[in-house]
Amino acid sequence: MRGCFSVTGVEDVCERLGVPCVPLDDPVEVSGEVFQKIKISRKVLEADKVVNLPKLKTHSQMVMTLGVKNTFGCVVGLEKSSWHMRAKNYDDFANLLIDIHRIVSPVLTILDGVEGMEGNGPTNGKKKHFGLVAVSKNAFALDDAVCKALGIDHVVYTVQHARKRRVVPDYEIVGTFHASIQLPSTVSTLDRLSRTFSRFFVKYPKIDTRKCVKCRLCEERCPASAIDISSQRIDYQKCIRCYVCHEVCPQDAIKLVRRLV
Ligand code: SF4
Ligand code: SF4
Repeated sequence: MRGCFSVTGVEDVCERLGVPCVPLDDPVEVSGEVFQKIKISRKVLEADKVVNLPKLKTHSQMVMTLGVKNTFGCVVGLEKSSWHMRAKNYDDFANLLIDIHRIVSPVLTILDGVEGMEGNGPTNGKKKHFGLVAVSKNAFALDDAVCKALGIDHVVYTVQHARKRRVVPDYEIVGTFHASIQLPSTVSTLDRLSRTFSRFFVKYPKIDTRKCVKCRLCEERCPASAIDISSQRIDYQKCIRCYVCHEVCPQDAIKLVRRLV
């Protein structure tokens, strides 16, 4: 955790401003509308106010990381990985993210989309200048507006499920923003046309043995224990397509390949 603070430069900024930089530990079990026994850090639950600071970036599993998904970071440590097994499909996972966001309930969300990411985010995407800072008291409204402006609201799971659960308030947009974005390769033209049809063609992770340095990070983080780095093989009977391996691989050695299921 300290490594992340330091690599991202957050530690330096906190030091300069005299702001304590603390890990979100000390879990407290809470319940959402759809999911129960969610372990959120006590520091978040007991904070006077939470301000949510997401980046505008793509995400191979959930399509985009914006305000609502960002509060998943309040789930303590490795509990995050276990949720990939408990909320196995993307619709369930979106509902989990909505539950968590409503529990954390930030008073303000400030989206940093000045330099964002497109393509195979959140790790292997490409930097893109969007020149956007978006602010709202309500992240459901903010995500809805930003995805509409990008023309992708119909493929972003959290936006779709927030609308279904009627948690997106009426909102007014002040200012203008229009941009295009290249989505992760896990979202195909078929997804854009019909999510039902696209279920027949799904993408699975595959290890690029030329790039893999056998650091075992993917093996350690795979919530389904589907990876064996000694043989560099993935057990597709166990794989739940959470793409955590793709996200954590520092060598871009996990490719996503389409397979007929
Ligand atoms: S994280 Fe990437 S480099 Fe490390 S073992 Fe897995 S595939 Fe290989
Ligand atoms: S192999 Fe990768 S995509 Fe499959 S369950 Fe493990 S981490 Fe998730």
